[in-house]
Amino acid sequence: MASNELETLRLSVAALKDKLKRLVEDSPRATLSKKTVPRIDGTSPMNDQVTAENPYSRLMALKKMGIVENFEEIRNKTVVICGIGGIGAVAADMLVRCGVGKLILFDNDKVEMANMNRLFFRPDQVGLSKTEAAKDTLSSINPDVEFEQYDYDISGIDNFDHLKDRFFHGGIDSESKVDLVLSCVDNYTARMVINQACTELDVVWMESGVSETAMSGHIQLMLPGRTSCYMCAPPLLVQTGIDESTLKREGVCAASLPTTMSIIAGLLVQNSLKYLLDFGLVSYYLGYDSMSNYFPAQIVYPNLECSLLACVEKQQEYAGWQPIFSLPESDEVSVIHETNEWDIEVIENNTYYDNNYQYDYQEEYVQAGDNTAGEASLDDLKQQLSEQFEPNPEEEELL
Ligand SMILES: [Zn+2]
Repeated sequence: MASNELETLRLSVAALKDKLKRLVEDSPRATLSKKTVPRIDGTSPMNDQVTAENPYSRLMALKKMGIVENFEEIRNKTVVICGIGGIGAVAADMLVRCGVGKLILFDNDKVEMANMNRLFFRPDQVGLSKTEAAKDTLSSINPDVEFEQYDYDISGIDNFDHLKDRFFHGGIDSESKVDLVLSCVDNYTARMVINQACTELDVVWMESGVSETAMSGHIQLMLPGRTSCYMCAPPLLVQTGIDESTLKREGVCAASLPTTMSIIAGLLVQNSLKYLLDFGLVSYYLGYDSMSNYFPAQIVYPNLECSLLACVEKQQEYAGWQPIFSLPESDEVSVIHETNEWDIEVIENNTYYDNNYQYDYQEEYVQAGDNTAGEASLDDLKQQLSEQFEPNPEEEELL
């Protein structure tokens, strides 16, 4: 080849490389990642200045109004989300907007067009791993949040030690335990894995689920040794040892609605905020039945004969623990400002509903696996829930 032809080829390749570089730099994703969100005071953990530029001003208003004593504590909290689907992705979005310190995300799925009926993911993210796509979006919403993300199946035996390590050392200081684990997964096996890891490590977690018909769902607070664990009263499928993957039929999938998913995500994150920041009454179990507008609230106590040894050990450790069913007297009436500098009107809660509608937890509690103790047995609870939710237990709790 003549030297001038070679030179021409070299120049063409250089021009093409340059063009490609510019195309990559100008792509929407690259532009998005280059944008910086202005912060008005990087030295403050959470600024309460009331300006249009401050993303935290309305959150900090909760502190000024006396609802949350120390909202900026959220910056020190680490939350794990297992499953970045219809509930988990929305929960992650909400926590990031609330200024959580650190999020650890687990999922091994990719974004699909079939996910577009739910909130959060976009068509241009199809094909990306859910954890990477979620981190991209979430860090552009709030770059103050620290992220860890793992693209693997948490049910895999080989991954269990790593999963436990992240629960045990994933805290904001990279040494301590995480503050809360949220289960937003779509299968029983993954729930059992989360349950085992959290119970063994004494890490508090919250379970969530939406029924196959997309018409009902629930959240449940799991305090190892104090409230029922997932194995204290396992679902029928787990009890009978049926492989749930064999139940999935070709061409048939669960229904889902962005509304129900987001409502359950909202209940889950609301309960998470109350638990993490210690305000209001934290729900032990809260159900939602869209068809009948029913929100059952219960507590399920652990089963002394639970098949998970760590659960039985934790029950002995926490013997004598008492649940909280009502707010302290001083918290019942919040600080009321009829008007304020933000022009927000705060009205006493009692204006909106009759006091008789306030739920009394003490009327409905359950001893898991013990039909003789308590005022209601687990079977009673299941019966009650099946009447309010779905008649077929095999249909429940799938995303
Ligand atoms: Zn248990």
